[in-house]
Amino acid sequence: MTKMKTITATVDRWHPDPLKVSKAARVLMAGGLVAFPTETVYGLGADALNPEAVAKIYEAKGRPSDNPLILHVYSIVQAMHLVEMNDTAEKLALKFWPGPLTLVLPAKSCVPSITRGGLDTAAVRMPANKVAEALIYASGCPVAAPSAHLSGRPSPTDADSVLQDMDGRIDFILDGGSTTGGIESTVIDMTNPERPLMLRPGGMPREDIEEVLGCRLELPDTLSTKRSPGTHYRHYSPDIPVIIWRKGEKFPDVFPAGYMGIDDPESDGVTNKIVFTSYEDYAHGLFAGFRKFEAGGVACIVVQWPEDDSGINEGLRDRISRAAGLG
Ligand code: AMP
Ligand code: MG
Repeated sequence: MTKMKTITATVDRWHPDPLKVSKAARVLMAGGLVAFPTETVYGLGADALNPEAVAKIYEAKGRPSDNPLILHVYSIVQAMHLVEMNDTAEKLALKFWPGPLTLVLPAKSCVPSITRGGLDTAAVRMPANKVAEALIYASGCPVAAPSAHLSGRPSPTDADSVLQDMDGRIDFILDGGSTTGGIESTVIDMTNPERPLMLRPGGMPREDIEEVLGCRLELPDTLSTKRSPGTHYRHYSPDIPVIIWRKGEKFPDVFPAGYMGIDDPESDGVTNKIVFTSYEDYAHGLFAGFRKFEAGGVACIVVQWPEDDSGINEGLRDRISRAAGLG
């Protein structure tokens, strides 16, 4: 692809400068690519209703074209223009939006096939980030946005990480500081409200969603076409090997290793470590940690396996096992 100049504009995360937002919105309206912060990770946005613009996302990321994109909206009504919302899905949107919950629903015909990865459903969500909200509102279009990094790499949680992968491949970056969440949204299939499915665990804990639904989120069977297409690709991986360590087991015999987890393993092989004080912090710092270790001269990265899968841990376990190549 031809290299372009990537412009960065820094904005306040709570009160983004309307002029800079407007500049970014104009890039979207003209069919260009804009990276912007959400509460989970940075997104790589294009006008979701413009097939040529959406094609550029797949090209810039090297993303397989059967992996559909999430349409980011600033209101539930905007989502209703894009998908057939049912009562149960609307209840979830009212409770959890803006927030890290993506709803897969039957697509309306205005959503181009390329945005849906050829499926007859589309994924929608409203991000809880003032910069994202202002950008979507100003552009007047739903914004199709996967994470703003090369396919397969750890997702970017700050603008520098976006630049590392995307400099010269996209038009514009709105730098609104580091994201607060760290792992991507939870994706659920609501096409059949009687049988909601967990397609991808993420930032919104399963328990919170199930409490509103009053039923369990089932997993799609592996042969089902309803499976989230993106989940079968190797994902979220740094360039160096990732090894899982379970507390109580012998620590892997590797040197020099980077380490991330909740407990301090006190191993001689570890030359660089990040010990988090909570699983929320761990989820927040995981991808940034991968990128830091990658740049910092360790031979591999050892990560602690979360001891249970409650709350954020289901999503955290998912990202860790994928980074280690087990996903
Ligand atoms: P990303 O934006 O890179 O975090 O990935 C978005 C995730 O949402 C991927 O795992 C996609 O497969 C999934 N997704 C998006 N649209 C749909 C859809 N219509 N049906 C099922 N999964 C979807
Ligand atoms: Mg992604």
